[in-house]
Amino acid sequence: MNFDHVNQELFAFLDHSPNAFYAVHNMCARLEQAGMTRLFEGAPWKLEAGQGYFVTRNDSAIIAFRIPKADYKGFQMMASHCDSPVFKIKPNAEITIDKQYVKLNVERYGGMICAPWLDRPLSVAGRVIVRTEEGIETKLINIDRDLMIIPNLAIHMNRQVNEGHKFNAQVDMLPLFCEKGEEKDEFAQMIASEAGVTAEDILDADLYLYSRTPATTLGLHNEFIASGRLDDLQCAFASLQGFIEAEPVDSVAVHCVFDNEEVGSGSKQGAAGTFLSDTLHRINSAMGRTEEEYLMSIASSFLVSADNAHAVHPNHAEKTDPTNRSYMNRGIVIKYSANQKYTTDAVSGAIMRAICKHAGVPCQTFANRSDMLGGSTLGNISQSQVALNTVDIGLAQLAMHSPYETAGAKDTAYLIEAARVLFSSSMEGKGDGNYKLTFS
Ligand code: ZN
Repeated sequence: MNFDHVNQELFAFLDHSPNAFYAVHNMCARLEQAGMTRLFEGAPWKLEAGQGYFVTRNDSAIIAFRIPKADYKGFQMMASHCDSPVFKIKPNAEITIDKQYVKLNVERYGGMICAPWLDRPLSVAGRVIVRTEEGIETKLINIDRDLMIIPNLAIHMNRQVNEGHKFNAQVDMLPLFCEKGEEKDEFAQMIASEAGVTAEDILDADLYLYSRTPATTLGLHNEFIASGRLDDLQCAFASLQGFIEAEPVDSVAVHCVFDNEEVGSGSKQGAAGTFLSDTLHRINSAMGRTEEEYLMSIASSFLVSADNAHAVHPNHAEKTDPTNRSYMNRGIVIKYSANQKYTTDAVSGAIMRAICKHAGVPCQTFANRSDMLGGSTLGNISQSQVALNTVDIGLAQLAMHSPYETAGAKDTAYLIEAARVLFSSSMEGKGDGNYKLTFS
């Protein structure tokens, strides 16, 4: 495996994907480049065996699928998410201080670690909705330079700063944007000029801060990588790459990346929405299949919910379960939770182990300490729309939900290989609990 090459491609994807809109935009470009056809939910679908397609919803979630040449048994799927905890810019964002500074009014999106957002270069990216003669049009914008900063209070003004600080999002987290000049609404003017329109033509916007610090490699032997948004663009990238490299024979390969995982998934473009179920139903009917055939195919399908996992922390090894401890560069982490916060059970865990074995990549296990509540992810949430054998996995990382996270330099390549095997495989029910697994 060429770990370095994989990481260079991952870094380019991370650095050019400051938020979900750009991640989806970049995945579309990659799929088009690989010869796949874009579909729209509002237009009819004519699908052909042997071809690959993709569709987006809200420009912030994407499902790509490849139909094999022969008749298919089921769907082999991997789902990840493309949103990260971040600060969203509120409408009417400008706040003037002492007629000297302009700072921006922002609010929290998801549960981030606040401290590392301070004292580092930030900028803004997202989408604006522009008035047209016919209606409205979406434009992506990214102010691609160091633009803002959220400054810390000097230690002389907060002597307790190193004894634990409680961050107030309305007070502590507002970024400094510019010196107050003669012009009014300079933020709106900047956004409009970046979009190539006038401020009056912008009807609304979804704009987010992002950290400007690019992805890099660390460690004496270059064994670690660090970047913003590794949770969960690392998995999304690996899933996409494995999907493109796969050779589906008996199953439809389905690469899904949802938005809004960090805020509970309950949107039209989130895992609790109908996007996956609608897409699978449309594939089924476009291929001339009945509803019974749809349900039979779901029973012969598998979903890998891929969302990053916690590595043992070098300074806080005591925070991890005594026997299910995952480490960076030790491969795919299979996550277990008795309460089904993670969907893994004996059947889906066994299938995932078979996939890793066939791919020749290591796997390890994670469970939360029994006295600690872990996070949730998208696998269990998507079950309310499409219920099927599902496993929760991830890649081990440190500092989850920091704007700069650390992970293993080998693990992305391992997940690409496991995804390639998953998307090229099929499973067939032989009564409940027994499956024939075919790896092409
Ligand atoms: Zn995540």
